[in-house]
Amino acid sequence: MNNSDIYLYERKLHKYADYTVWLAFPGVNSFAMSSLGFLWIYKSIDEIEDVNVEILSSDKKTTKFMYEDVNLIGFSFTFDTDFLTIFSMLEKYSIPFKSNERDEKFPLIFAGGPVVSANPMPYKDFFDFFVIGDGEDINLNLVNLCKENKNKSKNEILEMLSKIDGIYVPSINNRPVKKLTQKLDKCVYTPIISENAFFKNTFIIELARGCSNRCGFCLASYLNLPFRYVPFDEIISKIELGLKYTNKIALLGAQISAHPKFEDIFNYINKKIESGMNIEMSVSSLRVDAIKPEIVKTLVACGQKNVTLAIEAGSERLRKVINKNLSEEQIFSAVKIAFENGLKGLKFYGMIGIPTETKEDIDELIKLVGEIKKLYKGFDISFGFSSFVPKPNTPFQWCGRENSKSIEQKAEYLKKEMHKLGIQISVSSIKWDYWQAVLSRGDDSFTQFLIDVYNLGGKLGAFKKSAIKNNINSDFYAYDNFPINTDLPWDFIEVSPGKDFLIKEHSRLLN
Ligand code: SF4
Repeated sequence: MNNSDIYLYERKLHKYADYTVWLAFPGVNSFAMSSLGFLWIYKSIDEIEDVNVEILSSDKKTTKFMYEDVNLIGFSFTFDTDFLTIFSMLEKYSIPFKSNERDEKFPLIFAGGPVVSANPMPYKDFFDFFVIGDGEDINLNLVNLCKENKNKSKNEILEMLSKIDGIYVPSINNRPVKKLTQKLDKCVYTPIISENAFFKNTFIIELARGCSNRCGFCLASYLNLPFRYVPFDEIISKIELGLKYTNKIALLGAQISAHPKFEDIFNYINKKIESGMNIEMSVSSLRVDAIKPEIVKTLVACGQKNVTLAIEAGSERLRKVINKNLSEEQIFSAVKIAFENGLKGLKFYGMIGIPTETKEDIDELIKLVGEIKKLYKGFDISFGFSSFVPKPNTPFQWCGRENSKSIEQKAEYLKKEMHKLGIQISVSSIKWDYWQAVLSRGDDSFTQFLIDVYNLGGKLGAFKKSAIKNNINSDFYAYDNFPINTDLPWDFIEVSPGKDFLIKEHSRLLN
């Protein structure tokens, strides 16, 4: 925290608290200060009368220097490779990585976030417990429970925690764990506006959670079903709150354009701009069918020059396979509206290596982009690609990844062809995506493998060396098609649609 940070809630500055929580972000502080869910949980803990809470990030010093001064540490776990930064943060405070090596003098340590909500098994030996699903209410409740029972032993506290829905205690739980789904009647927004945040002085506000589109590979959709949205009046009152302190607003949500009042929200902002207010507003990404003249005009008036459109797959056939029923006609219409209403360019996002993809699908994409480029000369079109990574608790969880060599060839081909068309293209690292797939479908045999990856330096070579050393058949986790009737390590996590639903979706999309 910094002196120039603006708090949008009333802080109790001189607490007499003898219970301390570290809320830990495995990344640099500027990212922590732009992380909406993380800051929201910080605020709710900070509001507890007799608890001290401090943000811990990879590059920030805390006021307490000894783990003995801390009672509870909660880590946010958003990316598969976050374990590397988590280990380095634990090491910095001389805290053993494995929970069974931390006796009563060490704080209880837990993790929450999409990675561990979807599959906590590779990390089960490192944390005393996990929060599965939406964390707003449960984090507050668990901090209160831990604080009220701070004189009890760790095992006694864990026993109590293990009985709560949405908490998984690896040393105790042998029952299904229900993923938590938060009602969205109130807005989650950045409760601190910071000059030091990655999105400097920006008020970020969540309009909706999840996505009803249910693309077969998409964890953001399946982990957050059902799609929920915040009531219009609540959004407007929070936008007004944010505008008291800053003119920079970011609207967040995987499918914000599905909010039934999406256009009304934009009209509201537009009226303010027309009355002379200077507002800089941005959106994370938009669905192609949300590109309408009024929406684009408002974004342009708010200073946005480019918009990201996720089309995921190159051909209409492949978009049907992933459940993204988006026609070429819709894509052309979106580009025309964007071009005619003042945007300077569009960034498309796509994925390669999607199950059943062929060279014809990629050629169709190149043809599509070529035609767009020809029609709209001077319009800045760029492409960002990543490669398919099977994610637990999605209909594509059983699908193995395409061989890295073959994906790399596709990536090279795409780069060459896009280059000929004069289009900028960026592709994620295929090698890192491979290890992401290994981690994402990993299991409880990974403990020493992960420790050795860290000790060997955490780079690509370290993953390879550690896998060999620990007899981890990484190709199995990344490439194998798992039989549908096989038991999966994460089956005990109950996400809302259920495994039978995922099986039906898998068959519907891929057969
Ligand atoms: S449209 Fe985007 S957010 Fe929604 S399910 Fe598909 S990939 Fe996920």
